[in-house]
Amino acid sequence: MPALRNRLKDTPVAGAKRVLLAAPRGYCAGVDRAVIAVEKALDRFGAPVYVRKQIVHNIHVVSTLEKKGAIFVDDVDEVPEGSHIVFSAHGVSPAVVQGAADRSLEAIDATCPLVTKVHREAVRFAKNDFEILLIGHAGHEEVEGTMGHAPERTTLVNSPADVANITVNNPDHVVWLSQTTLSVDETMETVRLLRERFPNLQDPPSDDICYATTNRQVAIKKVAVDADLVIVVGSANSSNTVRLVDVALEYGAKAAYRVDYASEIKQEWLEGVATVGVTSGASVPEVLVQEVLDDLADAGYGDVSQVVTAEEDLMFSLPKELRKDAEGNADERGLGGRVRQLDWQKQR
Ligand code: SF4
Repeated sequence: MPALRNRLKDTPVAGAKRVLLAAPRGYCAGVDRAVIAVEKALDRFGAPVYVRKQIVHNIHVVSTLEKKGAIFVDDVDEVPEGSHIVFSAHGVSPAVVQGAADRSLEAIDATCPLVTKVHREAVRFAKNDFEILLIGHAGHEEVEGTMGHAPERTTLVNSPADVANITVNNPDHVVWLSQTTLSVDETMETVRLLRERFPNLQDPPSDDICYATTNRQVAIKKVAVDADLVIVVGSANSSNTVRLVDVALEYGAKAAYRVDYASEIKQEWLEGVATVGVTSGASVPEVLVQEVLDDLADAGYGDVSQVVTAEEDLMFSLPKELRKDAEGNADERGLGGRVRQLDWQKQR
C-alpha cells in the first residue's frame, strides 16, 4: 500500500523539528535469508511454492511474495502431496518435519540458524535430563517449534509474573532458554526471579535473544531518551517489533506507535512534537521506513540524523536445499542485505 503523499501537515512546534533514525534497524540476517529462500524456490521450482506460516512476520513481505506465487498455509496437511514447502524463519518442531515427509513434500528449511541453535540446546539439555524453562510468548510459532524439540521436559514461562507458579521435579537440574526476540531487560528480570526460586538454575551456553533483537533495542533506547514520539515500522504479530515500542516507552519516549505503513501515521501524533524517533523491526524492508521519512518530511521533519549504536554485516548461507543450481553447481548466494533492499525498492 503506497503512502498517501502530502497527507501530513507541517504545523509549528516549539523548537526545531527533527528525526532521529535508529541504526541498526530493519532486516536481520535470518529474515534476509528466509525471504531469499522463497524467491529462489519460486525461481527454481516455479509457482506455486507453499510456505508454512508467514515466512517472516511482515504483511508487506508476505503480500509481495504472494504476488510472485507463494501460497502461505497454516500447516503441512493443506499442501498437495509432492509439492515444495518452505518452513518459515521461526522454525518448526520435529513433528512438522515428519508431517511434511509423510506427505512426500519437498521441504526447504528456512529456519533462522539462531533459532536452530536454541533447538539444539533444548535437545541437548533434555538428553541430559534437565528441565527446561523456556521464556517466551505462548502461541508464538518460534516457541511452538522450540517446545516441540523437547516437549516432555519444557515448561513455558510467559512473563516475570509466571515465575511464582512454576513447578519442577528437581530444582537443582533446571536450565533456562528463551525465544530469540524478547525484551532483553524483561527477560533478565524473569531470569533473576527464576534464580531466586532455583538458585542452581543453569544459563544457556550463549545468549538466546539474538544479535538483531538486542541491537535494535540498544539503538531505540538511545533514540527514545530524546524523542517526543517514536514510530516503529513493523507488523503487529512481529515480536521484536512490538518489543521496540515497549522499550521506547520505557526509555523515555513520550509516545510510541507501531505502523505497517506510513499512511497509518496520524496527524494528531505529531502535535507539539519536535523530535520523532524512527526505527523498524527485523522483518521490515527499508523501503517502508523510507516512506515514513518521506511523509515526515512533508510534515516539516526533513532534518534526519542517524543514531548508530552498532554495525551489522552478518549473512547466513542459504538453506542447503537451495545451495546448488538446477545443474548441481554450487549456487553462491552473492546477495547481501544492501543489494536486497534495492531489489525491494524497485518493486514499488
Ligand atoms: S530476529 Fe534474530 S532469530 Fe529472528 S530471524 Fe532475525 S536473526 Fe534470526
